[in-house]
Amino acid sequence: MTSVIDRDAVAVVEALGVLPEVFWNHEDDACDCTFQRIGMWKNPYIGETLEVRMCCIWAELYKLFPQHVRVTPGYLVEDETWDTSIREWDGEADMPRSIFYRQMARKDGISLAEARQRYAHLEPPKGTPRPEVESGPSLVTLLYAQVVNLKRRLEALEAK
Ligand SMILES: [Zn+2]
Repeated sequence: MTSVIDRDAVAVVEALGVLPEVFWNHEDDACDCTFQRIGMWKNPYIGETLEVRMCCIWAELYKLFPQHVRVTPGYLVEDETWDTSIREWDGEADMPRSIFYRQMARKDGISLAEARQRYAHLEPPKGTPRPEVESGPSLVTLLYAQVVNLKRRLEALEAK
C-alpha cells in the first residue's frame, strides 16, 4: 500500500516539475552563511536524493548554543599563527562570486546583502593559472628502457 502511495507521490512531483534541475553547492550564494556547506546523499536502489544545507541548520544550532561557538576575525595559518589581514585572491580558478561578496562585505564592513547589491555589476577577480611543471619520462617509459637494456645485456651474455 505504501509503495502505491510513494509511486503516486513521485508521479505528482514529476507532473508538477518539482524535480530539481539545479543542485545546491558550497559556492551557490543561496544563503547568507559565511561558510556554505552542503550535504548530499543519493541512492539508486531507493530512488531518492537528499540535499541538506548543513550550514543553515548549523546556524540555527549556533543560536541555541552560543556558548559553544567562537568566531575569530582572522585566518589561522598552518594551525599556528593568526593572520588578520584579508588576502587578495591568488587562486588558479576565478574567485567564486559567493566568496567575492563575502570578502567585499568584510572589507567594506557592510552586510552580505549590501555587498551583493554594491558589487553585483563587478566581476570577481580572475584566477592565475599555475605554470605547468615540466615532468620527466613516465614510469612506464623508464621501466621499458630498463627492460630493453636488460635484453641487450642478456643477448650480449648469450653471445659469449
Ligand atoms: Zn547556509
